[in-house]
Amino acid sequence: MTAHHEQLLSYLDRFSAVASPEPGGYRWSHRHDGGRHDLHLVFGSMIHGDEVGSLPAVVEALELLSEDRLGFGGRITFFVGNPEAGLQRQRFLEQDLNRMFMQREEDAHEVRRARQLMPILDTADLFVDFHQTILATRKPFYICPWHRPGWLWARALAGAEHWVTRPPYQSFASGLVCADEYVRVQGKAGLTLELGEQGFFPDAAARALRTIRRALTLGDQLAEDPQALQQQAEQQPELVFLQTVHREQFTDAEMSLRAGIINFEAVNEGELLSGCDGPELRAPSSGDVLFPKYPPRDAKGRALDPRPGELYRIVQPLQGHPLDLWAET
Ligand SMILES: [Zn+2]
Repeated sequence: MTAHHEQLLSYLDRFSAVASPEPGGYRWSHRHDGGRHDLHLVFGSMIHGDEVGSLPAVVEALELLSEDRLGFGGRITFFVGNPEAGLQRQRFLEQDLNRMFMQREEDAHEVRRARQLMPILDTADLFVDFHQTILATRKPFYICPWHRPGWLWARALAGAEHWVTRPPYQSFASGLVCADEYVRVQGKAGLTLELGEQGFFPDAAARALRTIRRALTLGDQLAEDPQALQQQAEQQPELVFLQTVHREQFTDAEMSLRAGIINFEAVNEGELLSGCDGPELRAPSSGDVLFPKYPPRDAKGRALDPRPGELYRIVQPLQGHPLDLWAET
């Protein structure tokens, strides 16, 4: 057993030891009810099984709540999305769970799991979904479409300084719904926060716990004063908004990136991005690379199936504030 596996098992044990799910509810969840107001905050961990970095924070928050060293007057639900995939050190077992938040017919592990999670998300006023990137990143970031309540929460929580966003109602992946989107279409705040590179890292856990604590404090204030969210947001610096300006479709298995590109690697227009073999790839515009992929390859250098849909994308700062650029939602 690897150290990673042991660590994961130990955190899952600690989660189970303290967690108290809703009766008949999802096993890997914990429901807190402070009994003073109705605001429901939901925190998701490990919707992608191998993105374990927020689990230590969730376990710590649960333990602090159970010892009354952390309090909240409303309702909180924590859930561990896909521990089964996590224990296999995989993103998912059969289907990407973060595309399954809709009515689906097929009988796959992640379809069943989404069915258990949707009732939790149905009553969320705020959902923060903690993720991690496959490769290292120069900075943590929020990533989700623009929505005003989400903006206020994202800024007030200060979970990251950057938000990779896009206009509302531009579907994430057509016909496939991710968890934060499921919450947004119900008119509530749904945020995805990428904490850093996937794995157990103290920085990721500290960032997630700080975000949870701030959400609890702000949630209690908001229950007393509807203006609190706006006020707290204004006390934090404005976020830096970025948008995707290029997606390199992974159309040819021989396409490959030069070694060593990580998230938020700055590139110039025309810069060579490909490795020595395969088709030449040049950055079509300046900006920062996001989600560079280095998939496993065969002896001839061809990416193994199923290869990712995109090889990389480029993001650039948005020219203006989303409030001005896009109709308010
Ligand atoms: Zn993820």
